Amino acid sequence: MSLRRRTLLKVIVLGDSGVGKTSLMNQYVHKKFSQQYKATIGADFVTKELQIDDRLVTLQIWDTAGQERFQSLGVAFYRGADCCVLVYDVNVMKSFDTLDNWHDEFLRQANPSDPRTFPFILLGNKIDIDGGNSRVVSEKKAREWCASKDNIPYFETSAKEDYNVDAAFLCIAKTALANEHEQDIRYFQGIPETVVETEQRSGCAC
Ligand code: GDP
Ligand code: MG
Repeated sequence: MSLRRRTLLKVIVLGDSGVGKTSLMNQYVHKKFSQQYKATIGADFVTKELQIDDRLVTLQIWDTAGQERFQSLGVAFYRGADCCVLVYDVNVMKSFDTLDNWHDEFLRQANPSDPRTFPFILLGNKIDIDGGNSRVVSEKKAREWCASKDNIPYFETSAKEDYNVDAAFLCIAKTALANEHEQDIRYFQGIPETVVETEQRSGCAC
């Protein structure tokens, strides 16, 4: 029997328009960065395979198609997400201030069974700009926000310089995987009750 199991994890990336969501994904999956700004059109998701211990994991990373400007991402975008990546730009205060909205909107739309333990990750992007001189959100402030949300993991990244991008996505995969284990356990614990119930019902029907 093979110990290898392939696991599909759905990851969605949220945050204000222009913070670098598409660039982070492109850097991670295609090892490419483009300075040119183009609102993402039509792309649903990209995939990346990685191995974590004895597990083969396929990350299915969903990008918005620019609709984040109107905060109207359809329900299919959120459905079945295993991890939610929130991104802000360390040089733009508003993109940090709106994190609460993105966080709450995710919980409202995805409606996970346990909102307190659902895996989120925060990325503070574009730390390369101006050697950090135009930065307006301090690392301390970002970490405080993460602590206030039941200790969300935090990474400072640069999609342009490929700084911390792999590390962040590895953490994303591991966190999503850990949460998936918990779902498995709950599922198996539920089985005996279901069996008993079915037997009783079939007994009555005959
Ligand atoms: P999205 O709207 O969140 O998907 O943002 P994009 O990925 O389209 O990026 C918006 C703009 O920011 C583009 O011009 C990117 O080239 C630029 N950008 C993204 N990430 C970085 C980064 O880490 N550093 C710098 N200097 N520019 C970035
Ligand atoms: Mg985009």
